[in-house]
Amino acid sequence: MSTSHGQRVLTLEVMCRVCLKRPEIPDEPHGRCEACAKAGRRAYQFRLTPISTGFKISAGELSPRALRDHVGPALQSFASKPAVKPHLVATQCELVVAGKRLESVRIAPGLATKAELVLESLRQAATRTESAW
Ligand SMILES: [Zn+2]
Repeated sequence: MSTSHGQRVLTLEVMCRVCLKRPEIPDEPHGRCEACAKAGRRAYQFRLTPISTGFKISAGELSPRALRDHVGPALQSFASKPAVKPHLVATQCELVVAGKRLESVRIAPGLATKAELVLESLRQAATRTESAW
């Protein structure tokens, strides 16, 4: 697209929330690209609050009970390192899930040195049965 002055007008493409690489399908309810939607992958974001021993989850796109149902066992046995992702800020973290499979845990750059504490707070949260945080 060009203006009359020949300047390029950038179309603001929204990237897929899951892979962060491919453009989102317009109006896809979970903000995904075609490949991620087909694969049934989802990204769920959570917010952490600092507590004396580390963190606790204070909000999230899954309830404690749904977190437990979806990826409870996967979280308890998750052995990879959380990935640092600059699209997350402050005390945000994210889980990438395909069915009951936990593909990755993503954390904001500011949490990079506290990755273990973030994982611990997610594991702790996934033992709860409440329907709200
Ligand atoms: Zn995608």
